Amino acid sequence: MEQKKKKVKKPLGIARLIPGKCIACGARCESTCKVEAIVMNDAGEPVFDIEKCTGCRRCVRICPSDAIEIYFTPEQQKILDELAKKEIAEAEPEVEEVDEEEAQIKARLKEYHGVWVFVEQIDSEAADVSWELLGVGANLAKTLDVELCTMVIGDKVEELCGESFAYGASKVYLMDDPVFHHYRTIAYSRAICYLVGKYKPEIVLIGATGLGRDLAGAVATELRTGLTADCTGLTIDENRFLLQTRPAFGGNIMATIMTERTRPQMASVRPHVMPMPDKDPSRKGEIVRESLAISEEDIRVKVLEVHDLRSDAAEDIDIAAADIIIAGGRGMKSKENFQVLQELADELGGVVAASRSAVEAGWLPPERQVGQTGKTVRPKIYIACGISGAIQHLVGMQDSDVIIAINRDRQAPIFEVATYGIEGDLFEVVPAITSHIRELHAQKKA
Ligand SMILES: Cc1cc2nc3c(=O)[nH]c(=O)nc-3n(C[C@H](O)[C@H](O)[C@H](O)COP(=O)(O)OP(=O)(O)OC[C@H]3O[C@@H](n4cnc5c(N)ncnc54)[C@H](O)[C@@H]3O)c2cc1C
Repeated sequence: MEQKKKKVKKPLGIARLIPGKCIACGARCESTCKVEAIVMNDAGEPVFDIEKCTGCRRCVRICPSDAIEIYFTPEQQKILDELAKKEIAEAEPEVEEVDEEEAQIKARLKEYHGVWVFVEQIDSEAADVSWELLGVGANLAKTLDVELCTMVIGDKVEELCGESFAYGASKVYLMDDPVFHHYRTIAYSRAICYLVGKYKPEIVLIGATGLGRDLAGAVATELRTGLTADCTGLTIDENRFLLQTRPAFGGNIMATIMTERTRPQMASVRPHVMPMPDKDPSRKGEIVRESLAISEEDIRVKVLEVHDLRSDAAEDIDIAAADIIIAGGRGMKSKENFQVLQELADELGGVVAASRSAVEAGWLPPERQVGQTGKTVRPKIYIACGISGAIQHLVGMQDSDVIIAINRDRQAPIFEVATYGIEGDLFEVVPAITSHIRELHAQKKA
Protein backbone atom coordinates (compact mmCIF):
# COMPACT_ATOMS: atom_id res chain seq x y z
CA MET A 1 0.00 0.00 0.00
CA GLU A 2 1.24 3.53 -0.87
CA GLN A 3 2.12 5.52 2.25
CA LYS A 4 0.49 8.98 2.56
CA LYS A 5 3.01 11.83 2.26
CA LYS A 6 3.29 13.96 5.46
CA LYS A 7 2.47 17.65 4.80
CA VAL A 8 5.20 20.08 5.77
CA LYS A 9 4.11 23.58 6.70
CA LYS A 10 6.18 26.45 5.37
CA PRO A 11 7.54 28.46 8.32
CA LEU A 12 6.65 32.15 8.25
CA GLY A 13 9.44 33.34 10.51
CA ILE A 14 9.43 35.53 13.58
CA ALA A 15 9.36 39.31 13.93
CA ARG A 16 12.23 41.22 15.52
CA LEU A 17 13.33 44.82 15.98
CA ILE A 18 16.08 46.32 13.83
CA PRO A 19 18.28 48.13 16.40
CA GLY A 20 18.24 51.91 16.27
CA LYS A 21 15.28 52.29 13.90
CA CYS A 22 12.27 52.40 16.29
CA ILE A 23 10.86 55.93 16.69
CA ALA A 24 8.50 55.00 19.59
CA CYS A 25 5.49 55.96 17.49
CA GLY A 26 2.99 54.98 20.19
CA ALA A 27 2.79 51.18 20.10
CA ARG A 28 1.15 50.72 16.72
CA CYS A 29 2.81 47.31 16.37
CA GLU A 30 1.50 46.20 19.77
CA SER A 31 -2.05 47.25 18.96
CA THR A 32 -2.04 45.45 15.62
CA CYS A 33 -0.72 42.12 16.92
CA LYS A 34 -3.56 39.61 17.12
CA VAL A 35 -1.70 37.05 19.21
CA GLU A 36 -0.35 39.45 21.85
CA ALA A 37 3.23 38.61 20.99
CA ILE A 38 4.40 42.22 21.50
CA VAL A 39 4.80 44.23 24.70
CA MET A 40 6.38 47.68 24.86
CA ASN A 41 9.40 48.41 27.04
CA ASP A 42 10.02 51.65 28.97
CA ALA A 43 11.62 53.24 25.91
CA GLY A 44 8.42 52.64 23.92
CA GLU A 45 10.06 49.93 21.80
CA PRO A 46 8.50 46.52 21.10
CA VAL A 47 9.71 43.31 22.74
CA PHE A 48 8.69 40.17 20.82
CA ASP A 49 7.57 36.89 22.38
CA ILE A 50 9.00 34.32 19.95
CA GLU A 51 6.77 31.60 21.38
CA LYS A 52 3.64 33.54 20.41
CA CYS A 53 4.74 35.25 17.16
CA THR A 54 3.14 33.65 14.10
CA GLY A 55 5.14 35.64 11.56
CA CYS A 56 1.96 37.22 10.19
CA ARG A 57 3.81 40.47 9.28
CA ARG A 58 1.08 42.83 10.52
CA CYS A 59 3.60 44.64 12.71
CA VAL A 60 6.08 44.85 9.82
CA ARG A 61 3.46 46.46 7.60
CA ILE A 62 2.21 48.97 10.17
CA CYS A 63 5.63 50.15 11.42
CA PRO A 64 6.11 53.74 10.17
CA SER A 65 9.92 53.56 10.40
CA ASP A 66 10.51 50.09 8.88
CA ALA A 67 12.03 49.06 12.19
CA ILE A 68 10.68 45.47 12.22
CA GLU A 69 11.95 42.58 10.14
CA ILE A 70 11.19 38.86 9.85
CA TYR A 71 13.92 36.32 10.54
CA PHE A 72 14.00 32.54 10.57
CA THR A 73 15.33 30.38 13.40
CA PRO A 74 17.94 27.77 12.37
CA GLU A 75 15.21 25.07 12.58
CA GLN A 76 12.85 27.08 10.38
CA GLN A 77 15.64 27.83 7.93
CA LYS A 78 16.38 24.10 7.72
CA ILE A 79 12.75 23.35 6.81
CA LEU A 80 12.79 26.14 4.21
CA ASP A 81 15.96 24.75 2.67
CA GLU A 82 14.49 21.25 2.53
CA LEU A 83 11.25 22.53 1.00
CA ALA A 84 13.14 24.45 -1.62
CA LYS A 85 15.27 21.42 -2.38
CA LYS A 86 12.46 18.91 -2.63
CA GLU A 87 9.94 21.38 -4.02
CA ILE A 88 7.23 19.80 -1.90
CA ALA A 89 3.91 20.80 -3.44
CA GLU A 90 1.97 20.43 -0.20
CA ALA A 91 3.82 23.25 1.51
CA GLU A 92 1.20 25.76 2.74
CA PRO A 93 1.43 29.18 4.35
CA GLU A 94 0.03 29.07 7.86
CA VAL A 95 -2.00 32.24 8.03
CA GLU A 96 -3.27 32.98 4.57
CA GLU A 97 -6.60 34.26 5.88
CA VAL A 98 -4.87 37.20 7.59
CA ASP A 99 -3.85 38.66 4.25
CA GLU A 100 -7.35 38.13 2.92
CA GLU A 101 -8.78 40.09 5.83
CA GLU A 102 -6.29 42.89 5.21
CA ALA A 103 -7.20 42.92 1.53
CA GLN A 104 -10.90 43.17 2.41
CA ILE A 105 -10.28 46.13 4.71
CA LYS A 106 -8.22 47.90 2.05
CA ALA A 107 -10.91 47.31 -0.56
CA ARG A 108 -13.58 48.69 1.80
CA LEU A 109 -11.55 51.84 2.51
CA LYS A 110 -11.21 52.48 -1.22
CA GLU A 111 -15.00 52.79 -1.55
CA TYR A 112 -14.86 56.11 0.34
CA HIS A 113 -14.14 59.40 -1.46
CA GLY A 114 -14.45 63.08 -0.71
CA VAL A 115 -14.05 65.55 2.14
CA TRP A 116 -17.28 66.62 3.85
CA VAL A 117 -17.99 69.41 6.30
CA PHE A 118 -21.09 69.59 8.48
CA VAL A 119 -22.62 73.09 8.36
CA GLU A 120 -23.81 73.88 11.86
CA GLN A 121 -26.66 76.36 11.97
CA ILE A 122 -29.20 77.80 14.36
CA ASP A 123 -32.25 79.51 12.86
CA SER A 124 -30.58 79.27 9.42
CA GLU A 125 -27.53 81.18 10.61
CA ALA A 126 -24.32 79.20 10.12
CA ALA A 127 -21.63 78.94 12.77
CA ASP A 128 -18.38 80.48 11.50
CA VAL A 129 -16.47 77.34 12.41
CA SER A 130 -18.21 75.53 9.53
CA TRP A 131 -16.64 77.91 7.02
CA GLU A 132 -13.28 77.69 8.79
CA LEU A 133 -13.49 73.93 8.28
CA LEU A 134 -14.13 74.44 4.59
CA GLY A 135 -10.80 76.29 4.46
CA VAL A 136 -8.79 73.38 5.85
CA GLY A 137 -11.08 70.93 4.02
CA ALA A 138 -10.10 72.53 0.71
CA ASN A 139 -6.43 71.76 1.37
CA LEU A 140 -7.24 68.14 2.25
CA ALA A 141 -9.48 67.71 -0.82
CA LYS A 142 -6.79 69.21 -3.07
CA THR A 143 -4.12 66.83 -1.74
CA LEU A 144 -6.45 63.85 -2.17
CA ASP A 145 -7.77 65.15 -5.51
CA VAL A 146 -11.40 64.66 -4.39
CA GLU A 147 -14.53 66.79 -4.03
CA LEU A 148 -15.11 69.17 -1.13
CA CYS A 149 -18.75 68.98 0.01
CA THR A 150 -20.96 70.19 2.84
CA MET A 151 -23.94 68.70 4.61
CA VAL A 152 -26.62 71.30 5.20
CA ILE A 153 -29.34 69.99 7.51
CA GLY A 154 -32.13 72.11 8.93
CA ASP A 155 -35.46 73.82 8.27
CA LYS A 156 -35.53 76.49 5.52
CA VAL A 157 -31.75 76.40 5.17
CA GLU A 158 -31.32 76.38 1.40
CA GLU A 159 -29.52 79.73 1.41
CA LEU A 160 -26.66 78.04 3.27
CA CYS A 161 -25.95 76.07 0.06
CA GLY A 162 -24.95 79.31 -1.67
CA GLU A 163 -22.76 80.22 1.30
CA SER A 164 -21.15 76.77 1.15
CA PHE A 165 -20.21 77.35 -2.48
CA ALA A 166 -18.94 80.84 -1.67
CA TYR A 167 -16.59 79.39 0.94
CA GLY A 168 -15.26 76.69 -1.38
CA ALA A 169 -17.58 73.64 -1.48
CA SER A 170 -18.40 72.23 -4.90
CA LYS A 171 -21.38 70.14 -3.77
CA VAL A 172 -23.95 70.37 -0.98
CA TYR A 173 -26.01 67.51 0.42
CA LEU A 174 -29.17 69.26 1.57
CA MET A 175 -31.79 67.92 3.98
CA ASP A 176 -34.41 70.62 4.43
CA ASP A 177 -37.32 69.53 6.61
CA PRO A 178 -39.30 70.98 9.57
CA VAL A 179 -38.28 67.94 11.61
CA PHE A 180 -34.76 69.46 11.66
CA HIS A 181 -35.96 72.88 12.88
CA HIS A 182 -34.38 72.47 16.32
CA TYR A 183 -31.20 70.51 16.81
CA ARG A 184 -31.90 67.10 18.28
CA THR A 185 -29.18 64.47 18.41
CA ILE A 186 -31.27 61.59 17.10
CA ALA A 187 -32.60 63.42 14.05
CA TYR A 188 -29.32 65.04 13.00
CA SER A 189 -27.16 61.98 13.66
CA ARG A 190 -29.54 59.78 11.68
CA ALA A 191 -29.47 62.25 8.81
CA ILE A 192 -25.67 62.27 8.71
CA CYS A 193 -25.41 58.48 9.05
CA TYR A 194 -27.86 58.12 6.16
CA LEU A 195 -25.85 60.47 3.91
CA VAL A 196 -22.53 58.88 4.86
CA GLY A 197 -23.90 55.38 4.28
CA LYS A 198 -25.20 56.36 0.85
CA TYR A 199 -22.36 58.54 -0.49
CA LYS A 200 -19.36 57.28 1.52
CA PRO A 201 -17.11 60.32 2.19
CA GLU A 202 -13.61 59.47 3.39
CA ILE A 203 -13.34 62.46 5.75
CA VAL A 204 -16.05 64.17 7.81
CA LEU A 205 -15.24 67.40 9.70
CA ILE A 206 -17.45 68.90 12.41
CA GLY A 207 -16.99 72.06 14.51
CA ALA A 208 -16.12 71.32 18.15
CA THR A 209 -18.92 73.50 19.51
CA GLY A 210 -21.42 72.29 22.12
CA LEU A 211 -23.71 71.06 19.35
CA GLY A 212 -20.87 69.64 17.25
CA ARG A 213 -19.34 67.69 20.12
CA ASP A 214 -22.68 66.06 20.86
CA LEU A 215 -23.35 65.26 17.20
CA ALA A 216 -19.86 64.03 16.24
CA GLY A 217 -19.75 61.52 19.10
CA ALA A 218 -23.21 60.15 18.27
CA VAL A 219 -22.39 59.81 14.55
CA ALA A 220 -18.98 58.17 15.10
CA THR A 221 -20.54 55.69 17.53
CA GLU A 222 -23.32 54.79 15.12
CA LEU A 223 -20.89 54.43 12.18
CA ARG A 224 -18.37 52.55 14.36
CA THR A 225 -15.54 54.73 13.17
CA GLY A 226 -12.81 56.81 14.78
CA LEU A 227 -13.28 60.43 15.89
CA THR A 228 -10.49 62.75 16.99
CA ALA A 229 -11.87 65.66 18.99
CA ASP A 230 -10.44 69.19 19.18
CA CYS A 231 -7.85 68.82 16.45
CA THR A 232 -5.39 71.65 16.00
CA GLY A 233 -3.87 70.33 12.76
CA LEU A 234 -5.17 68.24 9.84
CA THR A 235 -3.01 66.99 6.96
CA ILE A 236 -2.82 64.01 4.61
CA ASP A 237 0.08 61.53 4.64
CA GLU A 238 1.63 59.69 1.69
CA ASN A 239 -0.81 56.78 2.13
CA ARG A 240 -3.85 59.11 1.95
CA PHE A 241 -4.55 58.82 5.67
CA LEU A 242 -5.82 61.86 7.56
CA LEU A 243 -3.25 62.88 10.19
CA GLN A 244 -5.21 64.38 13.06
CA THR A 245 -3.08 66.35 15.50
CA ARG A 246 -4.28 67.42 18.93
CA PRO A 247 -2.87 68.07 22.40
CA ALA A 248 -2.76 64.96 24.60
CA PHE A 249 -1.82 64.06 28.17
CA GLY A 250 -2.94 67.38 29.59
CA GLY A 251 -1.41 69.28 26.70
CA ASN A 252 2.12 68.07 27.41
CA ILE A 253 2.51 66.41 24.02
CA MET A 254 0.95 66.82 20.60
CA ALA A 255 -0.44 63.48 19.41
CA THR A 256 -1.04 62.63 15.77
CA ILE A 257 -3.90 60.19 15.41
CA MET A 258 -4.93 58.13 12.38
CA THR A 259 -8.07 56.15 11.63
CA GLU A 260 -6.50 53.24 9.78
CA ARG A 261 -9.18 50.59 9.42
CA THR A 262 -12.55 52.32 9.35
CA ARG A 263 -14.23 55.08 7.34
CA PRO A 264 -15.06 57.90 7.37
CA GLN A 265 -12.17 59.48 9.24
CA MET A 266 -13.90 61.94 11.58
CA ALA A 267 -12.37 64.98 13.27
CA SER A 268 -13.73 67.93 15.19
CA VAL A 269 -12.01 71.32 15.37
CA ARG A 270 -12.70 74.18 17.76
CA PRO A 271 -13.82 77.61 16.48
CA HIS A 272 -11.00 79.99 15.49
CA VAL A 273 -8.36 77.25 15.30
CA MET A 274 -8.39 77.24 11.48
CA PRO A 275 -8.29 80.47 9.45
CA MET A 276 -11.41 81.68 7.69
CA PRO A 277 -11.13 81.11 3.92
CA ASP A 278 -11.89 83.85 1.41
CA LYS A 279 -15.56 84.21 0.46
CA ASP A 280 -16.41 84.40 -3.22
CA PRO A 281 -20.20 84.76 -3.75
CA SER A 282 -19.76 84.15 -7.49
CA ARG A 283 -18.82 80.49 -6.97
CA LYS A 284 -21.48 77.96 -7.90
CA GLY A 285 -21.96 74.25 -7.22
CA GLU A 286 -24.31 71.29 -7.21
CA ILE A 287 -27.11 70.74 -4.70
CA VAL A 288 -28.07 67.13 -3.94
CA ARG A 289 -31.46 67.09 -2.22
CA GLU A 290 -32.05 64.22 0.16
CA SER A 291 -34.76 63.34 2.64
CA LEU A 292 -34.89 61.04 5.60
CA ALA A 293 -37.76 58.76 6.57
CA ILE A 294 -38.12 60.25 10.05
CA SER A 295 -41.10 62.00 11.60
CA GLU A 296 -41.83 63.80 14.87
CA GLU A 297 -43.26 60.57 16.28
CA ASP A 298 -39.87 58.87 15.83
CA ILE A 299 -38.15 61.45 18.02
CA ARG A 300 -38.77 61.19 21.73
CA VAL A 301 -37.06 64.48 22.58
CA LYS A 302 -39.34 67.50 22.10
CA VAL A 303 -38.14 71.10 22.22
CA LEU A 304 -40.68 73.02 24.32
CA GLU A 305 -38.86 76.32 24.66
CA VAL A 306 -35.50 77.75 23.63
CA HIS A 307 -33.66 79.78 26.22
CA ASP A 308 -30.69 81.67 24.83
CA LEU A 309 -28.17 81.74 27.65
CA ARG A 310 -25.90 84.01 25.66
CA SER A 311 -28.26 86.96 26.00
CA ASP A 312 -28.76 86.25 29.73
CA ALA A 313 -25.13 86.14 30.54
CA ALA A 314 -23.75 89.05 32.49
CA GLU A 315 -20.51 88.35 30.62
CA ASP A 316 -21.25 89.32 27.04
CA ILE A 317 -17.73 89.89 25.74
CA ASP A 318 -16.66 87.21 23.28
CA ILE A 319 -12.88 87.12 23.42
CA ALA A 320 -12.84 84.63 20.53
CA ALA A 321 -14.23 87.31 18.22
CA ALA A 322 -11.88 90.10 19.34
CA ASP A 323 -9.18 91.56 17.10
CA ILE A 324 -7.05 92.80 19.97
CA ILE A 325 -6.62 90.91 23.24
CA ILE A 326 -4.70 92.01 26.32
CA ALA A 327 -4.28 88.90 28.46
CA GLY A 328 -3.09 88.73 32.05
CA GLY A 329 -1.72 85.82 34.03
CA ARG A 330 -0.62 85.05 37.56
CA GLY A 331 1.93 87.83 37.19
CA MET A 332 -0.95 90.32 37.57
CA LYS A 333 -1.00 89.44 41.27
CA SER A 334 -4.57 90.65 42.00
CA LYS A 335 -8.01 91.27 40.51
CA GLU A 336 -7.62 95.02 40.95
CA ASN A 337 -4.41 95.07 38.93
CA PHE A 338 -6.36 93.97 35.83
CA GLN A 339 -7.47 97.61 35.63
CA VAL A 340 -4.00 98.29 34.19
CA LEU A 341 -4.81 95.94 31.31
CA GLN A 342 -8.34 97.33 30.88
CA GLU A 343 -6.92 100.82 30.38
CA LEU A 344 -4.63 99.58 27.60
CA ALA A 345 -7.54 97.61 26.08
CA ASP A 346 -9.70 100.77 26.11
CA GLU A 347 -7.02 102.71 24.26
CA LEU A 348 -6.55 99.99 21.66
CA GLY A 349 -10.23 99.00 21.30
CA GLY A 350 -9.47 95.51 22.57
CA VAL A 351 -10.70 93.14 25.29
CA VAL A 352 -9.09 91.72 28.41
CA ALA A 353 -8.55 87.96 28.75
CA ALA A 354 -6.68 85.71 31.16
CA SER A 355 -4.68 82.55 31.72
CA ARG A 356 -6.24 79.73 33.70
CA SER A 357 -4.23 80.65 36.79
CA ALA A 358 -5.77 84.13 36.76
CA VAL A 359 -9.27 82.69 36.23
CA GLU A 360 -8.80 80.15 39.00
CA ALA A 361 -7.74 82.97 41.30
CA GLY A 362 -11.12 84.59 40.56
CA TRP A 363 -9.61 87.64 38.86
CA LEU A 364 -11.62 87.20 35.64
CA PRO A 365 -14.62 84.96 34.78
CA PRO A 366 -14.10 81.58 33.01
CA GLU A 367 -15.49 82.99 29.72
CA ARG A 368 -12.31 85.07 29.48
CA GLN A 369 -9.92 82.12 29.78
CA VAL A 370 -7.63 81.44 26.83
CA GLY A 371 -6.24 77.96 26.25
CA GLN A 372 -6.88 74.29 26.07
CA THR A 373 -9.72 74.33 28.58
CA GLY A 374 -10.71 77.88 27.73
CA LYS A 375 -11.24 79.55 24.38
CA THR A 376 -9.11 79.40 21.25
CA VAL A 377 -8.42 82.89 19.95
CA ARG A 378 -6.85 84.21 16.75
CA PRO A 379 -6.73 88.00 17.16
CA LYS A 380 -4.65 90.38 15.09
CA ILE A 381 -2.72 91.36 18.25
CA TYR A 382 -2.34 89.30 21.45
CA ILE A 383 -0.51 90.97 24.33
CA ALA A 384 0.44 88.46 27.05
CA CYS A 385 1.23 90.14 30.36
CA GLY A 386 2.68 88.10 33.22
CA ILE A 387 1.87 84.82 31.48
CA SER A 388 4.59 82.17 31.46
CA GLY A 389 3.43 80.40 28.26
CA ALA A 390 2.49 76.88 29.40
CA ILE A 391 1.59 74.62 26.46
CA GLN A 392 -2.07 74.57 27.57
CA HIS A 393 -2.13 78.36 27.20
CA LEU A 394 -0.18 78.42 23.95
CA VAL A 395 -2.55 76.04 22.12
CA GLY A 396 -5.28 78.64 22.62
CA MET A 397 -3.44 81.69 21.25
CA GLN A 398 -0.34 80.71 19.26
CA ASP A 399 -2.04 81.36 15.91
CA SER A 400 -2.59 85.05 16.68
CA ASP A 401 -1.19 87.28 13.93
CA VAL A 402 1.12 89.25 16.25
CA ILE A 403 2.03 88.15 19.76
CA ILE A 404 3.62 90.62 22.19
CA ALA A 405 4.87 89.10 25.43
CA ILE A 406 5.72 91.11 28.53
CA ASN A 407 7.45 89.09 31.21
CA ARG A 408 10.25 89.73 33.67
CA ASP A 409 11.62 86.20 33.25
CA ARG A 410 13.84 86.02 30.16
CA GLN A 411 13.44 82.21 30.11
CA ALA A 412 9.61 82.27 30.04
CA PRO A 413 8.37 79.95 27.22
CA ILE A 414 5.94 82.64 26.03
CA PHE A 415 8.94 84.36 24.39
CA GLU A 416 9.36 81.34 22.08
CA VAL A 417 6.05 82.07 20.33
CA ALA A 418 6.20 85.87 20.65
CA THR A 419 6.63 88.12 17.63
CA TYR A 420 7.93 90.83 20.00
CA GLY A 421 9.18 90.17 23.52
CA ILE A 422 9.58 92.77 26.25
CA GLU A 423 11.63 91.64 29.24
CA GLY A 424 10.53 93.77 32.16
CA ASP A 425 8.06 94.49 34.93
CA LEU A 426 4.58 94.61 33.43
CA PHE A 427 3.52 97.23 35.99
CA GLU A 428 6.05 99.58 34.43
CA VAL A 429 5.81 98.47 30.79
CA VAL A 430 2.02 98.34 30.34
CA PRO A 431 1.23 101.82 31.78
CA ALA A 432 4.10 103.24 29.69
CA ILE A 433 2.59 101.76 26.50
CA THR A 434 -0.89 102.98 27.48
CA SER A 435 0.24 106.54 28.11
CA HIS A 436 2.22 106.60 24.85
CA ILE A 437 -0.85 105.48 22.88
CA ARG A 438 -2.97 108.03 24.75
CA GLU A 439 -0.55 110.74 23.67
CA LEU A 440 -0.69 109.58 20.06
CA HIS A 441 -4.51 109.62 20.17
CA ALA A 442 -4.45 113.14 21.70
CA GLN A 443 -2.05 114.35 18.99
CA LYS A 444 -4.31 112.95 16.32
CA LYS A 445 -7.33 114.77 17.75
CA ALA A 446 -5.44 118.08 18.13
C1 LIG B 1 -5.39 69.80 31.69
C2 LIG B 1 -4.93 71.21 31.82
C3 LIG B 1 -5.58 72.19 31.13
C4 LIG B 1 -5.14 73.52 31.24
N1 LIG B 1 -5.78 74.47 30.51
C5 LIG B 1 -5.31 75.74 30.54
C6 LIG B 1 -5.91 76.77 29.76
O1 LIG B 1 -6.90 76.55 29.05
N2 LIG B 1 -5.37 78.00 29.81
C7 LIG B 1 -4.27 78.30 30.58
O2 LIG B 1 -3.83 79.47 30.57
N3 LIG B 1 -3.72 77.37 31.36
C8 LIG B 1 -4.21 76.10 31.38
N4 LIG B 1 -3.64 75.17 32.19
C9 LIG B 1 -2.68 75.62 33.19
C10 LIG B 1 -1.26 75.78 32.66
O3 LIG B 1 -0.58 74.56 32.74
C11 LIG B 1 -0.48 76.80 33.48
O4 LIG B 1 -0.48 76.41 34.83
C12 LIG B 1 -1.06 78.22 33.40
O5 LIG B 1 -1.27 78.60 32.06
C13 LIG B 1 -0.07 79.19 34.03
O6 LIG B 1 -0.67 80.46 34.07
P1 LIG B 1 0.23 81.76 34.13
O7 LIG B 1 1.15 81.78 32.96
O8 LIG B 1 -0.69 82.91 34.32
O9 LIG B 1 1.02 81.58 35.50
P2 LIG B 1 2.55 81.23 35.79
O10 LIG B 1 2.97 80.02 35.05
O11 LIG B 1 2.70 81.24 37.26
O12 LIG B 1 3.34 82.44 35.15
C14 LIG B 1 3.32 83.73 35.69
C15 LIG B 1 4.34 84.53 34.87
O13 LIG B 1 4.26 85.89 35.26
C16 LIG B 1 5.58 86.42 35.24
N5 LIG B 1 5.57 87.60 36.10
C17 LIG B 1 5.34 87.66 37.43
N6 LIG B 1 5.36 88.93 37.84
C18 LIG B 1 5.62 89.70 36.76
C19 LIG B 1 5.76 91.10 36.56
N7 LIG B 1 5.62 91.98 37.57
N8 LIG B 1 6.05 91.55 35.32
C20 LIG B 1 6.20 90.68 34.28
N9 LIG B 1 6.06 89.35 34.43
C21 LIG B 1 5.77 88.87 35.65
C22 LIG B 1 6.45 85.30 35.72
O14 LIG B 1 7.78 85.47 35.27
C23 LIG B 1 5.78 84.10 35.09
O15 LIG B 1 6.37 83.79 33.83
C24 LIG B 1 -4.06 73.85 32.09
C25 LIG B 1 -3.42 72.85 32.80
C26 LIG B 1 -3.84 71.54 32.67
C27 LIG B 1 -3.13 70.48 33.43
